[in-house]
Formats: sequence, structure tokens, C-alpha cells
Amino acid sequence: MTSIQHNLQHLRERISAAAQRCGRDPQEITLLAVSKTKPASAVVEAIAAGQQAFGENYVQEGVEKVQALAASQGIEWHFIGPLQSNKSRLVAENFAWCHTVDRLRIAQRLSDQRPSHLPPLNVLIQVNISDENSKSGIMLEALPALAQQVAALPNLCLRGLMAIPAPESDYTRQLAVCQQMAAAFNALKQDFATIDTLSLGMSDDMDAAIDAGSTMVRIGTAIFGARDYTGSVQQ
Ligand SMILES: *Cc1c(COP(=O)(O)O)cnc(C)c1O
Repeated sequence: MTSIQHNLQHLRERISAAAQRCGRDPQEITLLAVSKTKPASAVVEAIAAGQQAFGENYVQEGVEKVQALAASQGIEWHFIGPLQSNKSRLVAENFAWCHTVDRLRIAQRLSDQRPSHLPPLNVLIQVNISDENSKSGIMLEALPALAQQVAALPNLCLRGLMAIPAPESDYTRQLAVCQQMAAAFNALKQDFATIDTLSLGMSDDMDAAIDAGSTMVRIGTAIFGARDYTGSVQQ
């Protein structure tokens, strides 16, 4: 067994255990394998181990992998990085999901640029739930208005919410933040029939996120190993 296979199996067991501890069905939780900075060969190994959903942060790098692996059946690519307007077309044309919609202008561009032969782009609205230093994501107060506008766009499907809580080591405090996201997610479900995805939880807060109701955890390092940024140019 390769280490990627081994890591994936171990993570699936951790997700199952976390779900069972809080009385949830592990099937409700999707593992998104974050492959940023990793070569296509690492993604191929993960695919061989049964992994289907992959997350990328950098548009250019992500598009290269999407195109290199276009022949792989059943693979779903998620864009999870900050998105600048001038890169929106590449996301609209190459990805199945975008987790980082946080303003109407970017949503409008993604809808306009989504090719007509593809199904609507699945989108999540990113909420800035606890990190005052982060410029990404909207405040919860602004969510109802933006959700209405995004849901009305023809070539997008509003599926739910995403957040990157500020790092916090205390489980009770992690859980409190995750529960705020879950409450917003459940409220949104009442308003839109398409809402089914709460993208919440990384390596250090996965258990609290699952406990609160996350349906998608985003994990990179624990699958693919540490990232090496030396010498690379990110966009
Ligand atoms: C990099 C990244 C992850 C995964 O982080 P790891 O620490 O490698 O598990 C998850 N979500 C987002 C938005 C990321 O940028």
C-alpha cells in the first residue's frame, strides 16, 4: 500500500469514528482531498485508492491538473482558493464547484462564463466566521441578501456555505464557531431547496466540524504530506 492510500484509509476511519461519536451517518460527510502544490501523479494515486473529490487553491495549477486528468472518470474538481475576477473564466470552464463566492460580481461572472454544455457550476458562499484578519468571506449579516442574488443566477447552483475558522486549539471553542456556521446553513436550507453542503473542517478542527454538522471536510497534508512552497510562484 502506498502512503497516500494508507493516509486516505486512515482518514476515512477518522471521519467514520467522528460521525459515529455524534450519531451521524458517515456517508453524509464527503472527504475533499486538497491537492494544491502536489503533482498530478499524487492525484492519480489517490484516485487509485478510490478518492473522487479534489480541491485546488491556485487557478493555473488547478487547471493544469484538471486538464491532465481529464480522461479519469467520475472525478470532481473543487476550486477552494481566493478568486480574482480576471481568473473567474478558468474556474467556470474547468471546475465543478467553487467554494469561495463572497461577492455578487464574482458570482455573476462565473454564471456568465459557465459553458452551456456543462451543468450549472455548484457554488458555496464563503463566510468569514471568526477570522478578523482574513479578507475572504462575507459577514453572516450579509448572507441572506447575497444568497438570494446568487440563487437567481442561471448557470450557478447554490449548494451551501464554506468557512475557514481562525486556528483554535480548544475543542469547545472550535465547536462553538462550527455551530454558528451550522445554524446559518440550516437557516439557508429553509429558503433554498438546493442547499445540502456545509464545507467546514480541516485537519485540526475536523472532529468539531463533523460534530456541528459539516458535510464536507477539506484535508490536504494528512493525505499528501507536507507542502513545499520553496521556489514556487503561486497565483
Ligand atoms: C490548504 C487548504 C486546506 C487543507 O489544508 P491542510 O492543512 O493541508 O489539511 C483546506 N481548505 C483550504 C481552503 C485550504 O486552502
